[in-house]
Amino acid sequence: MSMERTYIMLKPDCIKRGLIGSVITRIENKGYRIVDAKMMNLNEQILVEHYAHLKDRPFFKDIVEYMTSGPVLGMIVEGENAVKGMRILMGATKFEDAQAGTIRGDYAFSTSENIIHGSDSLENAKIEIKRFFG
Ligand code: UDP
Ligand code: MG
Repeated sequence: MSMERTYIMLKPDCIKRGLIGSVITRIENKGYRIVDAKMMNLNEQILVEHYAHLKDRPFFKDIVEYMTSGPVLGMIVEGENAVKGMRILMGATKFEDAQAGTIRGDYAFSTSENIIHGSDSLENAKIEIKRFFG
């Protein structure tokens, strides 16, 4: 076990649907601590960096459009094994594969608009925290 920090981002659909409180409650109920948080309006440049692994996919333009459609809430979340733990709490990327009881499983009805982002490794968590919090 190790104390970790991960980058979590509540996406525009989460904010528009009024689900900030519900999602943060789940994160806190699990025992994780929110050590920093800020509302942001993202630009294309930061998204091209953040989603570089998807830049050749046909839906890349749609992701940028969606992620710039309204504010996001970026957060640094801390806890024991928080990187993997948050991925489990979030549920699968594809909404139809996300199990009931996970955030995406309970709230997402689209794969592109899927409520929440979470770093997929400790290495990426460090990069993403730096990217969004400096
Ligand atoms: N995405 C999408 N269609 C796909 C795969 C991904 O629209 O087939 C979007 C979705 O919003 C996802 C984001 O791109 O959360 C990043 O994809 P990634 O594979 O990194 O999934 P995640 O780490 O968010 O589970
Ligand atoms: Mg990812």
